[in-house]
Amino acid sequence: MPAKIILKPGREKSVIRHHPWIFSGAIQKIDSEISPGEIVDVYSADNQFLARGYANPNSQILVRLLTWGKKEKIDKQFWCHRLNQAITLRKNQFSPPFRLVYAESDGLPGLIIDNYGEWLVLQAFTAGIERVKPTLVSILFELIQVKGIYERSEGEMRIREGLKESTGILEGEEPPDKIEITESGWGEIPIRFLVDIKKGQKTGFYLDQKENRRKVAAYCKGKQVLNVFSYTGGFSLQALVCKANRVINIESSTEAITLAQQNTILNGFPVHPDDYLCGDAFHLLRVLRDKGEKFDVIILDPPRLAPSRAHLPKATRAYKDLNLISLQLIRPGGILATFSCSGLISPELFQKIVFAASLDAQRAVQIIEKLSQSPDHPILLTFPESEYLKGLLCRVW
Ligand code: SAH
Repeated sequence: MPAKIILKPGREKSVIRHHPWIFSGAIQKIDSEISPGEIVDVYSADNQFLARGYANPNSQILVRLLTWGKKEKIDKQFWCHRLNQAITLRKNQFSPPFRLVYAESDGLPGLIIDNYGEWLVLQAFTAGIERVKPTLVSILFELIQVKGIYERSEGEMRIREGLKESTGILEGEEPPDKIEITESGWGEIPIRFLVDIKKGQKTGFYLDQKENRRKVAAYCKGKQVLNVFSYTGGFSLQALVCKANRVINIESSTEAITLAQQNTILNGFPVHPDDYLCGDAFHLLRVLRDKGEKFDVIILDPPRLAPSRAHLPKATRAYKDLNLISLQLIRPGGILATFSCSGLISPELFQKIVFAASLDAQRAVQIIEKLSQSPDHPILLTFPESEYLKGLLCRVW
């Protein structure tokens, strides 16, 4: 029998609405000691069974729910069913690389899996997933034809769950230091990218921007483009394939900018060292502005500047600052593609920030399109936190 967790009066509301998280503050009583990752049953204050999930007494999010309404057995068959569902949903819709499992949105809280074709890259962010990792790996290896499954379980979230970093091969062959993937470019031209799944950021590539890279590239033909926070050159290569005149990259990671140059060569474009600026974007944008440089298209894709509520005021100012300087750098009639991947910044707030920047810059801005994360990162209605990436594709006068 799983341990029983009883909620405080009134705190059953979000559970009934199938929100998958229960914070420690909502809990009245736990009937026995629970260990990290253990399966638990959740009851309302008046002792009605509500849902089943896994718990971690070391985490602020004490329970992550897996099933509601009935006491479903959480065994190998359960995990197999959930993984199969995620696979089926993506079958015939996406070709690698794509996100195969997007955590809570796929009914698999705490689990991310990206499919890079020959390798899967897995991130286990919670004690509950950590516990069943061997089961998940053996199911995946049976269900999908891959050379290997590589783990990249690192970062803040692991620490918050009281877990140590865990990286390396989980099953199959060790991947090479760089694997090659292709992303479809304008006119269906395949664009080749080297991806460092072992040491690159996240699982190696920002799959959530796939559609947006193509959309933005459509505005780049014959243009001077500035790709700020370029990582390994995703937006830049898409722009070059669309016959951009020149693309300048700004990026603080030397590994990423080196890979961006290699990716440029790999696709048959010349590398001009002056087009790869390695350093702090906040500073380099000012340098460009003070030199009087102008661009036709600017892409602004910063890292998550608001990782917690405490960061919100500072992050809001930082987003405004980046957008303000970028607007000052754009020729009249030019394009700004501006993004925020901070879940805590709502689309409405983000639009207000860009509005404030446009007032300060004294530039008229039209939104041509509102952008979101790729469809392999579905947004679960019961879990609004699953919507995190927002972008505005703007014409600037
Ligand atoms: N647009 C990219 C993803 C960008 S992720 C793509 O499509 O692949 C954000 C990038 O910003 C990361 O590569 C990170 O190294 C870089 N970065 C973080 N802080 C920075 C800073 N202050 N200045 C410049 N780059 C920074």
